[in-house]
Amino acid sequence: MTQQLLRQSPRPASAIPRYYRALDFEQLWQEFPPAPEYFDERNRLSRDALRTLQEERFLTQMERAWQIPFYQRHWGAAGMEPGDIRSLDDLLKIPPFSVHDLREAIGRNPPWGDFIGLDPARDAPLPLVLQTSGGTTGLPRPMLYSPRDREVMNVITGRRLYMQGVRPFDIVQVMLSLGLANGGFLAREGIWKYTGAVPVMTGSGAQTPTRRQIEIMRAWKTRHLVGFPAYIRHVGLVMRDELKIDPRSCGIQSLIVHLGVEDRVSLQEIWGARAYDTYGTNECGSLAAECEHQRGMHVFEDAFMLEIVDPDTQQPKAPGEKGVIFQTTLFKHLAPLVRFNSNDLSAFAPGDCPCGSTHRRIERIYGRSDNMVKLRGTNLFPEAIGGIVGENRAANGEYVCIVERAAATGREEMTVWVEAADRAVSRPDLEKTLAARFKEVLGVTLSVKAVERGGLDEMTGLSTTSKVRRLIDKRHPEQD
Ligand SMILES: [Zn+2]
Repeated sequence: MTQQLLRQSPRPASAIPRYYRALDFEQLWQEFPPAPEYFDERNRLSRDALRTLQEERFLTQMERAWQIPFYQRHWGAAGMEPGDIRSLDDLLKIPPFSVHDLREAIGRNPPWGDFIGLDPARDAPLPLVLQTSGGTTGLPRPMLYSPRDREVMNVITGRRLYMQGVRPFDIVQVMLSLGLANGGFLAREGIWKYTGAVPVMTGSGAQTPTRRQIEIMRAWKTRHLVGFPAYIRHVGLVMRDELKIDPRSCGIQSLIVHLGVEDRVSLQEIWGARAYDTYGTNECGSLAAECEHQRGMHVFEDAFMLEIVDPDTQQPKAPGEKGVIFQTTLFKHLAPLVRFNSNDLSAFAPGDCPCGSTHRRIERIYGRSDNMVKLRGTNLFPEAIGGIVGENRAANGEYVCIVERAAATGREEMTVWVEAADRAVSRPDLEKTLAARFKEVLGVTLSVKAVERGGLDEMTGLSTTSKVRRLIDKRHPEQD
């Protein structure tokens, strides 16, 4: 088991695993071509050829998963046996699992959980690296990566950044926190190893204050910003309104973000640059990314099988219909995912993309189904509320939703706090307009409270973390 790794007596020096010897790089790049080769061949493979490749990798992944105690237990309990699954057509027969199962597996077998398939008694030592999920409550969820797992993720990060305009010698400023969470370090590895561009790791606002971020950006001629859209917007507004510098004069070419339902248009306007959406997780790295045409995110289908299914019946959804994303990895050795219910809501994008890629695309991530708030019988997503706030030019796009039970009436109420775009905005007018718009779009009455710019910083954690808080549910205090 993994934890024994830490308790063993020291191995002889000759047994220290070396990263570069742990991998056959040429072989790996044949299997997962990096940019730019990827775009000539793999990205244009016919659907049939892609399916054949996926099936072969899927069956290998199944074989590997059967060696891991987590799947032996989970699948065994459903009556599955090794060899039951013979093709991709059988995928629907496999019981899915969710983050709750992962947490339970960690509880059962701390600290990493028995879904990480590593046995020091049997396996040769591997150089390992650990990163985590963001984690707003309790300990963040750890994930260990083998050299191959990590390197495939790096190759894919490189493809994604190439699609979004990053080229050799470009300066890429990474405004993601550099600590436990995977995003920042994965960006660094992908940029450095697979784009020829230069990562500049300024990190979150807590690591490099916003004004220093701006000084560096201008002095070193940053061309691309990687970060959360809320923070990139904040940096642009500080530049424009406090420092009186037009962000559009800085030569920024692309904003590389997980857009979700944040408003793309206003973000692009502030910077005079294209904002590109991406879908990624700490377990998988980037699963899908937009190309220059911004028509949905191309799934890297040689590395992932994505399904979009009905959250209740688990039946596949047709293109354009929303459902939750199930993820299956086609390359992971230490902790393969087979039908992982991500709880992220999206839809397959219908039609083709002018770039000529044959890989399927997903629409934006509309929210997380487990982030849904049930308020007086209506299902609400904080992200959707944020989308509506983002459309209003009198607000600056910042928001936080507070749900509580009114002391007097016992009725559940949600108040959406927003920030006014500038001092000229009448806050009562903004509150009234937004409340009417919420009623119109969501069919439910929400209170709106507008404050000055920066007034929500403390509640959302915007300038100190890269995990911005959008929902504070006071009905269930134990859930944060
Ligand atoms: Zn495309």
